[in-house]
Amino acid sequence: MGGSIGTVTYYENYSPVGDVTVTSVCLVFFILMAVAYNIKSKSYRIMQAMIVCLLIAAAASMGYHITLNKRDEIPYAVIYLLRFLMHTGLFVNLYLYVIYVMEPLQLDANIRKRFFIADTVLLVMFVADDLFSTIFKFGYYIDETGTIHEGVRFFFAIGYCCFFGIIAWLLLVYRGRIVRQILYGILGTFAMSILMMSIQGAHGQVSFTCVCFLYPIVTLLYMIHANPYDIEIGAVNVNAFDDMIGYVNRHHESRFFMSLFMPDFEGTGKKYPIEIQNTIKEFTQQYFRGAVLFKLSGGRMLLSINMKKNPDYKKGAESALKRFAKEYKNFQFDYKIVFLTTVPSITGGHDYIKLLQFIEKKMDINSVHTVADRDIADYTTTKYVLSELEDIRHGADLNDPRIEVFTQPVLNIATGKYDTAEALMRMRLPETGMVFPDVFIPLAEEYNYIHTLSLIILFKTCIRIKNMLDQGYNVQRISVNFSVGELRDKSFCDDVKRVIDKVGVPYDKIAIEITESQNESDFLITKKRINELRHDGIKFYLDDFGTGYSNFERIMELPFDIIKFDRSLVIACGSDEKSEQMVTHLARMFSSMDYSVLYEGVETEQDEQKCIRMSAKYLQGYKYSKPIPIEELSEWFEKTA
Ligand code: C2E
Ligand code: CA
Ligand code: CA
Repeated sequence: MGGSIGTVTYYENYSPVGDVTVTSVCLVFFILMAVAYNIKSKSYRIMQAMIVCLLIAAAASMGYHITLNKRDEIPYAVIYLLRFLMHTGLFVNLYLYVIYVMEPLQLDANIRKRFFIADTVLLVMFVADDLFSTIFKFGYYIDETGTIHEGVRFFFAIGYCCFFGIIAWLLLVYRGRIVRQILYGILGTFAMSILMMSIQGAHGQVSFTCVCFLYPIVTLLYMIHANPYDIEIGAVNVNAFDDMIGYVNRHHESRFFMSLFMPDFEGTGKKYPIEIQNTIKEFTQQYFRGAVLFKLSGGRMLLSINMKKNPDYKKGAESALKRFAKEYKNFQFDYKIVFLTTVPSITGGHDYIKLLQFIEKKMDINSVHTVADRDIADYTTTKYVLSELEDIRHGADLNDPRIEVFTQPVLNIATGKYDTAEALMRMRLPETGMVFPDVFIPLAEEYNYIHTLSLIILFKTCIRIKNMLDQGYNVQRISVNFSVGELRDKSFCDDVKRVIDKVGVPYDKIAIEITESQNESDFLITKKRINELRHDGIKFYLDDFGTGYSNFERIMELPFDIIKFDRSLVIACGSDEKSEQMVTHLARMFSSMDYSVLYEGVETEQDEQKCIRMSAKYLQGYKYSKPIPIEELSEWFEKTA
């Protein structure tokens, strides 16, 4: 670094401007890092350490050059120490930079270890040389006359080049693993540092050495660690949220979250009204210590509260709620508020957002819900069931063992025998055992897995029908449930027939149960599909009659064979006269128009008597049998003579 060439002495040219700049900029960085929410990743910590090293180096550099010029008054040991600190600070800074760059490259453990060793060896070598060359006077030292001996003058520059060589090597060999923009940012910064070094060299200067080390840190801070603040409410974004969750999980900490969802702002990019912004700002600052506000996608704000720093966070939450309720009177936007403490089993920010959505779906509008263990268990199950459903659809195996057919035998009143039945789906999963339709059918419908499942049930039912027919059982038909949405698909009729043909069962042994749809276009398509399949002999049941707003005109236009009166109608008849009259009337009307009436949910002797009086052709319910595995159905059916 210092030294004399002819009459020029570098250290005499030294001015502290460069080092003062570095020191102050490093302090500014610390101020920014303290006030902003930063993603506290490993890289972030490394970068912080790099700043500390640079700060030490810059301060030592100032001290070194000042004391060097006054070396007749100051013990040499002090000068040596300051020089050593300056160099070591810069070398450790470079050493850390190599480690920093290795982080995102996902190197194999072996390669990583090799680079790590090379990096460490370089550091030890240069630091040791700095130390011993002075102690043993084969390098830099000051003799009794005050003359400075430089040793190998370019030793520092060699060290600098070695570290940068490793970094350049890593970046070039693994350039595919690093984001292009970051690669260019780092390389551009390199070029700038080298240019700066050359300029100061050409001017016989050493004042700006530390400044050159500042550039890489500016680049990292700007490109990787900057977290833009929403200046209106002071919130950070979803990436920061994701990172915070990672941090909390890694450190086994817990947080209390208050999530505010306003559907009016979902996907609109509209800004929250100023009153809400102010209220939220107050939440963050007034009721909690060190709370961090996150602005998540889809009109959602989330306040994260460190429970250790806020032992009475529940009180704070209550106050915040009261304040919110007061404000709500003014702005009147719909909301859903969820309180939640972190759960170790949920590992990513994205997962928390999904959990919140899951909970909000079940909540009433303008309500507050505190998440309980039960909710988490439900969510976990849902997630698991969904992944299995996806796997089932992916496999598209009609024999998939996870889908089981249960059946409920149906009593034929005319014969007093069981010759039809309804197929009901069950899922049996390795981790949860049996899963019931109320859990998985809505999910399968929402995520479009239902058709695969229906075809599996149809296939397994056909196999059992064929089996029973071969054994001489009198099977009139078995009905299979399909969801209305499935009928929209152009290939619906072909899919159904293909599966039945595959097993080789007569079409009239199969019936399809569907519910009424309120949708006009569904109605037309349904009609078309029913007509096509009915033409081939497949029977159609209208399921759950009496649960929706039935449109008789439409029902009459659809060629159903059997109308299934929902259990709610059976219950209603048990309790009041008027309902009974109405149901009797409806049943009679359907019967007179050649529909058969089936009552579902017949549980008692009274139910049975009543239904028989009300034009029943078929009866189904717990009174006869609960749904049983399809293999046991033959126990209920009779063999034809
Ligand atoms: P659903 O089609 O109305 O089926 C009748 C439901 O009532 C069955 O519930 C059955 O176990 C139950 N049940 C039968 N008898 C009685 C009774 O006497 N009292 C009472 N309280 N309930 C009785 P499950 O099996 O849990 O199925 C629930 C719903 O899930 C079904 O209602 C149907 O909408 C749907 N589902 C079941 N299997 C399938 C399927 O393969 N595909 C489609 N798309 N939906 C299905
Ligand atoms: Ca049904
Ligand atoms: Ca039903």
